[in-house]
Amino acid sequence: MKKVTNFIRRKSLIYKTAVEYGDYTINHVQGCSHGCRYPCYAFLMAKRFGKVKSYEQWVEPSLVENALELLDKEIPKFKDKINSLHLCFTTDPFMYKYDEISNISIEIIKK
Ligand code: SF4
Repeated sequence: MKKVTNFIRRKSLIYKTAVEYGDYTINHVQGCSHGCRYPCYAFLMAKRFGKVKSYEQWVEPSLVENALELLDKEIPKFKDKINSLHLCFTTDPFMYKYDEISNISIEIIKK
């Protein structure tokens, strides 16, 4: 097993996606330990928008530490607007060997 060592706080979690088949989405992890080289579109976007500086930083996932807290505030706000909510567009929410990430993904699904 691997432990998450990087944590970030966000001001919001649920957002309307511009992806054509999507509605709303949640991304509670930044980065992805799989580190696919084909290349990964999520990595390219994270780099372009300054969320990560390098491939090495990308493959060390950062967990949004206030994800559940934000959902408690945002679910009542968005519940009448949401048709579907993707978990998640920018990484693997059940990342291999990262139980902390899988566990929080399950908690999010429960909510
Ligand atoms: S987000 Fe998807 S494509 Fe990108 S590194 Fe992770 S598994 Fe690979």
